[in-house]
Amino acid sequence: MNFLEFEFRFYDPLICRFIQIDPLAEDYNYQSAYNFAENRVIDGNELEGLEWTRFENPNEKAINYVVNLKVLNSTTGLGMSDNKAKKAANAIKTQTEKSFGGKDIDGNTVSVEVNLEFVDKISKGDFYLEFVDEVGLDGVSKEDTPIDVRLAEGKVDEIGNSTSNRIQISKLTNSSMEEFGNTGAHELGHTAGLMHNNDSDNSKNVVNSMKTNNLMFVPQRSNAITPQQRSEIRKIVPRVRPASTLKAVGIKKLN
Ligand SMILES: [Zn+2]
Repeated sequence: MNFLEFEFRFYDPLICRFIQIDPLAEDYNYQSAYNFAENRVIDGNELEGLEWTRFENPNEKAINYVVNLKVLNSTTGLGMSDNKAKKAANAIKTQTEKSFGGKDIDGNTVSVEVNLEFVDKISKGDFYLEFVDEVGLDGVSKEDTPIDVRLAEGKVDEIGNSTSNRIQISKLTNSSMEEFGNTGAHELGHTAGLMHNNDSDNSKNVVNSMKTNNLMFVPQRSNAITPQQRSEIRKIVPRVRPASTLKAVGIKKLN
């Protein structure tokens, strides 16, 4: 790590790595009580708790993801207004759908639909995005990380947990809705198993992201997801039903 990298922005690469190594505060210990395999429901009828849900239609080489994302505005004082938080969440929805949609390496056409639900509080086990004054105020001490975690724009509690996870986005995220969109899409990529180009920890059996510039590339990146990354996501996110049943599930959009 050198100071040149800091010139781009104070971003989250070290934060994400740190979160994997060091368990979070007590409040979040429940996450380790359910490992991924136990938590997934394959070909089941219950969508509860599967916030990244994968639908496939092999005949049409189509893969659809429905991402149900709760959104909480936890900023205080002169933080973000609820209206701004809603705009930012919608920017994240739009950017995620744009970035993650496209072809994977097997020629499947991938599409993503993000459903936002604005809530006043969250429940144990929720999959949610939280706007905060500063990221990482719980469970992370300054001494344990070489940069000030509070200067990060975003972080995720657990890489590769697509069912019960928390994304934090700082109100200090570089002001524009575009930046909120990019940061949120980046963090959602983590929840679906994508890592940074320079991450070395593959303990969760997640392949590092491509070395080419992309949404997960640090410090400077584009907002594109590569075909290989789309295929990586497919390995992480559990499949629930064939795509033919997608409409029958009756998931409705909450705006
Ligand atoms: Zn990251």
